[in-house]
Amino acid sequence: MNGQEAYLLRKTPYGERDYVLTLFTRESGKISGFAKNARTSGKRFGGRIEPFVLFRARYKEKSGGLRLVDDAETVKVFRRLMEDIELFLWGSLALEIVDVLTPKDAPNEEMFEALTGLFTELDEGKSALPAVLEFQLRTLALSGYEPNLVACAECGNDAGDRAYFSIRRGGVVCTACGSRAENGGLISREFLGRRDLMELHLENVVKYVKLFLRFTEYHTERKLNSSKFIEELTV
Ligand SMILES: [Zn+2]
Repeated sequence: MNGQEAYLLRKTPYGERDYVLTLFTRESGKISGFAKNARTSGKRFGGRIEPFVLFRARYKEKSGGLRLVDDAETVKVFRRLMEDIELFLWGSLALEIVDVLTPKDAPNEEMFEALTGLFTELDEGKSALPAVLEFQLRTLALSGYEPNLVACAECGNDAGDRAYFSIRRGGVVCTACGSRAENGGLISREFLGRRDLMELHLENVVKYVKLFLRFTEYHTERKLNSSKFIEELTV
C-alpha cells in the first residue's frame, strides 16, 4: 500500500458506485486512480477527497498501471477557498492550470509546493491577484512552457523592460520589431517580478493574468473552464 499527499484535480463518476480520480501528488505528480464504491460509501472519502483539501491518499498499484484508492486522511483544509466564491474560483483556476500543464506520472514536487503555497496565501487572506499571477509564471516555468521575457522573438536582441508580447511566438517582441509583428500589447518585465508594484496596480495584474491564461490555453491546446469567469473580471 502506498500513501502520499495529494490534491484532487478531477473526479469523474464511473458507473453507479465508483469514481475515477485525477490526483496531483507530491511524489508522483499527476496520477489517476479508481475509488471503488466511493459514490455510495461516504465513510471512507466523505469530505476528504474534495478540491482545496490536502489529504494523504492510500492506494494499491495494480497491474497495467491501475491504482485503487483505498482511503484518504485529511492533512489540511483550505477553508476560505471553499467558502469565498472569488477564492473558490481562483483556487479552481489553479487546479485547472496544474492539470493542463502536467503530464501523467511525471513527478514535479516544485509544482506541488507552488500549489500549496498559493492555497496557503489565499487561505490566509493575502492579496489574491498578485499571488495568482506569480503562480501562473512559476508553474509555466516549472512545466517547460516558460514565456521568454528577455530575447525578442523576431531579432533575438534583449527586448528591454517594455516590449510587446506575442502569445503565438511564446514571448516578447522588442518595440522595434513589434510594429511589424502581431502583439498582445506592451508588457513590463520589471512589473512581473515585483509584488510591491503589483499591489499598487491591480488593474494591470488582471491584464497579465488574462494574457498568461490565453498563453497557457494556446500552448497546451486546452481550454480552461475558469477562463470564462476570468475574462469578465475587472478590478
Ligand atoms: Zn526585435
